Amino acid sequence: MKKIKLAFFDAKEYDKEAFEHAEGRENFDISYYDTQLSPETCLLAKGAKAVCVFVNDRVDGEVIDRLSALGVKLVALRCAGYNNVEIEKAYGRLHVVRVPAYSPYAVAEHAMALLLTSIRRIHKAYIRTRDFNFSLNGLTGFDLHGKTVGIVGTGKIGRVFADICKGFGMRVIGYDKFPAPDSGIEYVTLEEIWKQSDIISFHCPLTNENLHMVNADTIAMMKKGVVLINTSRGGLIDSEALLEGIKSRQVGAACLDVYEEEGDVFFHDFSGHIVSDDTLARLISMPNVIITGHQAFLTKEALGNIAKTTLENITTLLKTGSSPNEICYKCPEFASCEQKHAKKCF
Ligand code: NAD
Repeated sequence: MKKIKLAFFDAKEYDKEAFEHAEGRENFDISYYDTQLSPETCLLAKGAKAVCVFVNDRVDGEVIDRLSALGVKLVALRCAGYNNVEIEKAYGRLHVVRVPAYSPYAVAEHAMALLLTSIRRIHKAYIRTRDFNFSLNGLTGFDLHGKTVGIVGTGKIGRVFADICKGFGMRVIGYDKFPAPDSGIEYVTLEEIWKQSDIISFHCPLTNENLHMVNADTIAMMKKGVVLINTSRGGLIDSEALLEGIKSRQVGAACLDVYEEEGDVFFHDFSGHIVSDDTLARLISMPNVIITGHQAFLTKEALGNIAKTTLENITTLLKTGSSPNEICYKCPEFASCEQKHAKKCF
């Protein structure tokens, strides 16, 4: 069988490691590029049938035009979220596949790790004890047991997070645009999430509709001292409003694995450089803000599943013309999709 030429953008060492050992690797001729996909770097995909991209690669109209002019047939996202792809522009020209699930545990467990680190001040204690400072002043936390956690988005990750929270003896309430009757979660309105929760964790995709769902108005509705956890997408939170909420003490702590302007910063080493994003610099300077650089997915299990499913998605789509993991702009309103009987997006 002729090998499939794949141009792999924004490749990191851990990506290469996982893809080089993945099932089906022998069917591919992979060129790894450190650079992100953008109009300027599209040409690297010349001769490739498919491109493989991650969360901050740009797949907008301009990139789609250039890729399809080069003869590329398929964009394979090695992630679940696809807010960086203009899927309406890709329709009929480039197939887009994603990895809808690879380890909801990786992300949900990271969300809990951030929460515990934050409220038990582990990040502060770690630095102190390394300096033989065993003072406990300023390290007082609070019990999770008995607290109310509001989960926005009760899909795969949200539900695992709900189970973890239940294990801690917390009361779990949830909001979802499409509530699942079998989730075992008590559904409330979004307004009730803001009003009742001691902790709010975001596990829904970023869409035009929920961009900045956390803003000055919604922060004002929250309980004083609320802890916000965002492992979903940065754009869900208006960062300036968050900073104001932290300064006014309305927000007690923020645990962020994602940031709305992360595209130019995350996944790169800027130590020793001046970071020009003032909002990010101010957030990092806050003692009650913990930031990880879009790391929630990063477990051995998740990387292995991502590599296996991505390669499978590409072979299946190129062989059969369809894939269960294909997405197009009609997918969010699947009920109205005329192609669903053909199991093809186009
Ligand atoms: P999922 O599709 O299983 O669940 C998403 C849930 O959100 C669904 O139940 C859906 O009905 C709901 N939803 C959709 N629009 C909503 C809205 N406007 N308000 C409230 N709920 C809404 O997805 P998942 O696998 O649980 O992943 C959730 C999100 O986590 C992804 O969209 C992605 O952005 C993010 N993610 C982050 C990382 C990371 O490393 N930080 C890794 C994987 C996924």
